[in-house]
Amino acid sequence: MKRLISRTSDGSQKAEALWFCALFTLGFVPLALIFAFAPSGVYLPACYVLAAVCVGLAIFLFRDKSAYLANKFFASSAAKAGAEPKAAGQNSLTGFSGQETLLSILAEELTPALPPTLLGIIRISNYDRMAAIDVAVADRVLSAFHQRLQNALGKTRRLARVERNCFAIWFGGPGDLHMAKAELQALSYALTQQIRGDAFTIEPELEVGSAATSQQAEPPAELISRALASLAKPGVRGGVLDPVSEGSRTDLRRRFALEQDLHRAIGNGELALHYQPFIDTSEMRVTGAEALLRWSHPELGAISPGEFIPILEESGLMQDVGIWVLNTACRQLREWRGAGSSDFKMAINLSARQLQNPDLKNMIGRTVYNHGLSPSSIELELTETAAMEDSALTLELFSSLREAGFSLAIDDFGSGYSSLSYLKNLPFSKLKIDREFVSYVDQSSASRAICKALLELASGLGISAIAEGVERREEVDALARMGCTSFQGYYFAKPMDAASFAEMTSNSDWLAELCSPAAAMSNELKRRYS
Ligand code: C2E
Ligand code: CA
Ligand code: CA
Repeated sequence: MKRLISRTSDGSQKAEALWFCALFTLGFVPLALIFAFAPSGVYLPACYVLAAVCVGLAIFLFRDKSAYLANKFFASSAAKAGAEPKAAGQNSLTGFSGQETLLSILAEELTPALPPTLLGIIRISNYDRMAAIDVAVADRVLSAFHQRLQNALGKTRRLARVERNCFAIWFGGPGDLHMAKAELQALSYALTQQIRGDAFTIEPELEVGSAATSQQAEPPAELISRALASLAKPGVRGGVLDPVSEGSRTDLRRRFALEQDLHRAIGNGELALHYQPFIDTSEMRVTGAEALLRWSHPELGAISPGEFIPILEESGLMQDVGIWVLNTACRQLREWRGAGSSDFKMAINLSARQLQNPDLKNMIGRTVYNHGLSPSSIELELTETAAMEDSALTLELFSSLREAGFSLAIDDFGSGYSSLSYLKNLPFSKLKIDREFVSYVDQSSASRAICKALLELASGLGISAIAEGVERREEVDALARMGCTSFQGYYFAKPMDAASFAEMTSNSDWLAELCSPAAAMSNELKRRYS
């Protein structure tokens, strides 16, 4: 009850009912008991005095709530009489003091150990103008806006109403500062969509501000003040957010709409996995497949993973979708194994967000076990960015996954903030050379030098390497000359649905044809150096 947070707008009404019951019990029940059981002849005014003492005691004991209820009562009488209700940090729409709630959350969570995060503030700046015309309409807009904001926030974000027309969003929890800023920005522009009532259509005008947490211990009230102070004043460009063009406003609205649609995408069967093979040219066979998520939107058609995966991550939906991906990929692998058609590895992508789940290792272990698979048949792909997030915890997680028998691949190697220390310190078993270096490797001496160095690095570390995103025969040939035998890319096959994948692997003629020059090259290299 202490935390009256976004999703429980009816919780405040329950709390109110409880306080009424407490006052009633402490004040009037003793009076009723005296009347019912007091021996005849008891002096009646004494009963009234006793009851008055009880009521007084109840009001004293619950003095905060009593004051709040009295305020609320007088505020609503004033509203009925046509006056503007007094805000003073209290929420007359939902019945809670949001400022107080926010302070108690921040008091608990705002520790120096907290990674830098954000307290966002969104204020409806045209509320006063609306209220001057019609208080009832202004309040309905406010209420609809509050509801929209609640619905838009991911599970991990928390909302408190700090002033009558002003909401605070606490981004504590998984994610980083950059992500929180982007999310606040997306929210703020998406929330300017029109609000329609029976007799009105209003576009809320917003002021947006925020304050980033500091590593020094800062009192919660100061963080709130900083966030409020950062609000862009009407007519003044500012706050912490960059001004956005009409084009990016449209993008942000689309992002917001997609996020809403993703909430129902899993249940509606709109998500699917496609599979792209890993090819070993020296053995001329498919050694595994990478499971890649696809979303077929009922109205917009296929949405690119590059667009919807970041939304899944930012909204906190990636945890649930990640479990679905793991389950679906394992079920598929089991089916292929059952049909006896392949003995290859299934590679599954894990995002930074998923690594923050403390139950991740157990969840993966349980799922793989439940599908009757061994961990050695699963390869987990992680990007450098994911590995970077928290090195101590990441090391612990990766080591335990490796001990359990899973393979770990470092994805897109070289594309991000590459640091060889990840390769040195983390127990990876495979390095995936990013397409950036593979593309036109036959024509770029710089790409050739990098690919050669990465292949040697992998070999020196005793781990395997695969070239991602090969599209042309010349690329395969150039890489084969450097000793690369493992490939993934459109040259061999694009990602495809499970049925097409099974059909493709049932016939290996195409593979022999595509692999033969590279295979000849590998054999020649083997012969020369053995
Ligand atoms: P990724 O893990 O690097 O996956 C490889 C991407 O490269 C895939 O893009 C694949 O379709 C594309 N690709 C493969 N061969 C070629 C090629 O020859 N040329 C070109 N141009 N592209 C090629 P896709 O499917 O669009 O996925 C994009 C990214 O989305 C993935 O990059 C991965 O980071 C993420 N992703 C996809 N599925 C999942 C998932 O289930 N979970 C998580 N966490 N991320 C996923
Ligand atoms: Ca991958
Ligand atoms: Ca990749």
